[in-house]
Amino acid sequence: MKKLWSFRTADDKFSQFIRKRDGKCQRCGSANNLQASHFWSKNHWATRYDPDNCITLCYPCHYGNSKGWEYDLQGEYREYMLKKLGKHYRELEIKAHSFKSRRQAIEEWQNKWHTINNTTKAGKKTLKKTSKTSL
Ligand SMILES: [Zn+2]
Repeated sequence: MKKLWSFRTADDKFSQFIRKRDGKCQRCGSANNLQASHFWSKNHWATRYDPDNCITLCYPCHYGNSKGWEYDLQGEYREYMLKKLGKHYRELEIKAHSFKSRRQAIEEWQNKWHTINNTTKAGKKTLKKTSKTSL
């Protein structure tokens, strides 16, 4: 049995995962000072580690000058999410307001993270093997 991550570890890994997925600010395209932004806040454990609930924003677009999306959750940010998720927006909203314990949320994300990483490693191994065979 693997040791359960602390929520800080889980948050760090999730933030890295989101920033790697997006690569740039989803609002302005900047590649500097990137952060992972939660649409439904981290208080919602059921969506805290849901990739659909999180996008990469640069600091100014996230929190800057009181004009970042963090201050406009029901305005521009919501419009963006509606466009991005389509019908799934409502599902995410329902999920965000459903109960999930902190432990369960972390455990599920931890398992998912291990699956993602093992898949990547296995993929590399297969690639190596294939190129060796072709020689
Ligand atoms: Zn930006």
